[in-house]
Amino acid sequence: MPQQPDSAVHEARIAGVAVDTRHWIGGRRVASADTFPDLSPIDGSTLARIARGGPTEAEAAVAAAKAAFPGWAATPRAERARILHAIADGVEKRLEELAIVETTDNGALLRSHRRGVMPRVARNFRFFADRLPALGHEDFTTHTGGPAAPGHTNHVSWDPAGPCVLITPWNAPLMLATWKVAPALAAGNTVVLKPAEWSPLTASLLADIAAEAGLPPGVLNVVQGHGAEIGDDLTSHPDVRRIGFTGSVATARRIAASAAPNLTPLSLELGGKSPLLVFADADLELAVDLAVEQFDNAGQVCLAATRLLVEESIADAFTERFVAKAARLRQGDPREEATDIGPTIHPRQIERIDGFVRRAVAAGARVVFGGGSHARLGGLYYRPTLLTDVAQDSEVVQEEVFGPVLTLQTFVDEAEAVHLANDTRFGLAATLATGDHRRAERVTAQLVAGTVWVNCFFVRDLRAPFGGSRLSGVGREGGAWSFDFYCDLKNRVLAPKGFHDHG
Ligand code: NAD
Repeated sequence: MPQQPDSAVHEARIAGVAVDTRHWIGGRRVASADTFPDLSPIDGSTLARIARGGPTEAEAAVAAAKAAFPGWAATPRAERARILHAIADGVEKRLEELAIVETTDNGALLRSHRRGVMPRVARNFRFFADRLPALGHEDFTTHTGGPAAPGHTNHVSWDPAGPCVLITPWNAPLMLATWKVAPALAAGNTVVLKPAEWSPLTASLLADIAAEAGLPPGVLNVVQGHGAEIGDDLTSHPDVRRIGFTGSVATARRIAASAAPNLTPLSLELGGKSPLLVFADADLELAVDLAVEQFDNAGQVCLAATRLLVEESIADAFTERFVAKAARLRQGDPREEATDIGPTIHPRQIERIDGFVRRAVAAGARVVFGGGSHARLGGLYYRPTLLTDVAQDSEVVQEEVFGPVLTLQTFVDEAEAVHLANDTRFGLAATLATGDHRRAERVTAQLVAGTVWVNCFFVRDLRAPFGGSRLSGVGREGGAWSFDFYCDLKNRVLAPKGFHDHG
């Protein structure tokens, strides 16, 4: 039965914070006839009913973005930068609210949202605002009549591209959304953002913050909905000039097919099956810490090094220390300061993760640590898990689990380590633990990965390119690369003659 657009239905109260669960299109709230439930992973309760968008909302949002584009593209860069900084101010002002809403909605640790994630959301806006003055142009001269003759001037500019559709996943919702929204807006584009249906709330708060910061209506639109129901109409739309997507390989393939008739440029940040290579010459405690860190966010991290590749001579010592450290991790309510690992996003995801583990065991794997979900926590918290005796060509080694499940394999020498590391269809990241600088140089040169960390993990600089090879994605974002994607480059060639001199 269609829902009436009254405010009681369309406002959720999450830990005291009011969140409007309708779309945000053309600077106003828009209801849908249908809604879908949004569950909290913490206890499985229904937090809100969210507007369920479809073709009508997709069309309206793209139309709003198209209508707002000329005005925003013509807005001086300094003014765009000022508004982006005002959005960052708004994020900082409402940081505590954003943190508690995000934790309630996606189950990641409140302390991480407070200290790491939400400050990074603000930084995403400041970073791209601050880069605007350096955003091209470039001038050079072409001499067609010999070096002494007057030359043609080439003037290259980075121009706004048009309406961008940005589609994002549930594991780090606002951080990943603003990683795309900020450069797209900074470059002078307008945006239709479609957050994931399992964690849709903070995107709605972002719309409020952006409006309060003075972003004109239609420049940022937020539509809610289930995957393809609204996604196909967004990604196949002829007025959309860029599609920025972060999510799974399966969805990326569908989006690429949908975008193909219009040849809409895509940036795809996808999954991974990244390795952590531990050599016998590594600092063992550091290597174990790096391995245990892979359980952060309950393993729901695209970059996670889920394949531990350990030199055979230290494998027993490594495993013993790993199990001792992992056993000290406290799993429970992500709002509590002492918690190390929270829940898994959704009951369906628990089933999926457990399916991987059960099939691996049936194929001969040994569960060294963990396995299954905690009954005492209502079955919503999958235990950190370590599997050994896994074959390189097995499903659990080759496919992304996207949960707190690591595999451990051994190698005898550097060549075997590199072979195992590269032998999947992914290429997002790799981590290396070694005490030998020359080995680090040799091995990092051979690894297929968009980011390689040596004796560290997850250190991110917004100036660096981010993305993956093979099935981990297409293109790079971050720093100058974001602007390359979200801009149209134009070269104007001016002849040295032919102008009338009007004095
Ligand atoms: P998903 O592909 O299921 O969904 C991502 C988004 O796509 C959601 O908003 C969803 O509604 C939307 N979507 C689904 N079908 C669509 C369609 N046909 N058209 C348009 N949109 C559609 O991914 P997920 O389960 O939300 O996220 C987990 C995946 O994301 C993992 O594979 C993970 O590795 C990946 N990820 C990658 C990065 C990265 O930067 N490389 C970062 C985080 C997550």
